[in-house]
Amino acid sequence: MITIKDSCIGCEKCIPVCPVDALKIEGKLAVVDEELCISCGVCVSVCPVNAIEPVLMAKKADFSKYSGVWIYAEQHAGKLKPSGPELLGKGRELADEVGEELCAVLIGKDVNGLTDELKSYGADKIYVVEGDEYKDYSTEAYTTAMVTLISKYKPSMVLYGATHLGRDLAPSVAGHLGLGLTADCTGLSITEVEDRKVLLQTRPAFGGNVMADIICPNTRPQMATVRPHVMIPLEPDDSKSADVIKETIPVSPDAIKTEIIEVLEPEDSEEVSVDEADVVITGGRGVGNDLDSFEILEELAVLLKGTVGCSRPIVEADILSKSKQVGQSGKTISPELYMVCGVSGAVQHRVGIRGSKYIIAINKDPKAPIFDMADFGIIGDLHKILPILKSKIEQKKSSEK
Ligand SMILES: Cc1cc2nc3c(=O)[nH]c(=O)nc-3n(C[C@H](O)[C@H](O)[C@H](O)COP(=O)(O)OP(=O)(O)OC[C@H]3O[C@@H](n4cnc5c(N)ncnc54)[C@H](O)[C@@H]3O)c2cc1C
Repeated sequence: MITIKDSCIGCEKCIPVCPVDALKIEGKLAVVDEELCISCGVCVSVCPVNAIEPVLMAKKADFSKYSGVWIYAEQHAGKLKPSGPELLGKGRELADEVGEELCAVLIGKDVNGLTDELKSYGADKIYVVEGDEYKDYSTEAYTTAMVTLISKYKPSMVLYGATHLGRDLAPSVAGHLGLGLTADCTGLSITEVEDRKVLLQTRPAFGGNVMADIICPNTRPQMATVRPHVMIPLEPDDSKSADVIKETIPVSPDAIKTEIIEVLEPEDSEEVSVDEADVVITGGRGVGNDLDSFEILEELAVLLKGTVGCSRPIVEADILSKSKQVGQSGKTISPELYMVCGVSGAVQHRVGIRGSKYIIAINKDPKAPIFDMADFGIIGDLHKILPILKSKIEQKKSSEK
């Protein structure tokens, strides 16, 4: 809800930006229709005299009206990001358990072609919002679209990937609707509270030393962001079908506060990122304190068609970029092979590598905690072991030719 203060000058700037026509002028002042207002806050940002105030109330919802497990299907430049299929995989499980529909929300410009992919990953229904205002991501436009859809269709849960975009969009939607939000979940399940099925959201807390279970019993929808690569997508099935519902939600350019001048792709765009690679060779403080020391890891990564990752101190020492950091405050990864060299295995690192299929650890300290998690451990000096490993792999490869 919003309130209009006495300082309103009746300039009418708020009237055209309201996506649900909840504002009109009466007696030269703006008035709000409380039934229609969806608390999106777009009008607040355009008022030149700050006469519109949001009233953020976490109202106790009438839960009987809320149904449907929604996932936000993130796309960039017309390509679906992996978080969408991953969330659909977990969403299917949750939706079946509560007996509700699984729906995906797709927002962008010319994105309708992505609906087939979302269908194949298990969505029962897909809401599509398209328009010029959605070409590039903006907090204001995308929040308006999500808030409008949620207010109209009333899902019981909405899940977002904990990507850069999801970490911006989800709190903005939660703020506008006065909802709770559990950020960065690594686990989602259903539990019963007072005979009601609610979403149990699990995430690391207190520096990763404990896993916290969180519920939002008083508001709907329940909302969470989920770490990329933690949930497993279903195998795509092209024979699946889904209802596609197109919504037009215009957003006035005046309501968008940011202007995108140029979209820069990451510098190392040819190189596969740590959270997408099948093979990740990670180096920690034991590798050394300059870029040259990491060369042997790079060479191994090239041989194994993988990529190099690192622990946090390596980023803090400006040796590798933050995009390479694996762990709680870096990337969560799930490669086929994780080779981890000179990393002690602090809990904040281990929390990011649980999804790895095989872990090979190299460390000179036999008591290093990383060995507790490793499938194979090599105790010794990595500077001696890695060149031997590299030459063995090269020999094997050339004998296979
Ligand atoms: C809120 C918070 C978030 C954090 N997030 C992250 C995160 O996302 N990712 C992360 O990695 N850390 C994170 N950390 C830091 C984490 O607690 C550890 O400090 C960090 O992981 C340690 O990095 P390391 O293992 O490279 O270094 P160290 O702990 O110093 O370990 C170096 C290891 O190398 C071994 N070694 C040394 N020389 C050799 C050699 N020649 N051959 C073989 N082994 C050798 C040593 O035996 C040792 O085990 C976070 C911390 C906090 C508080």
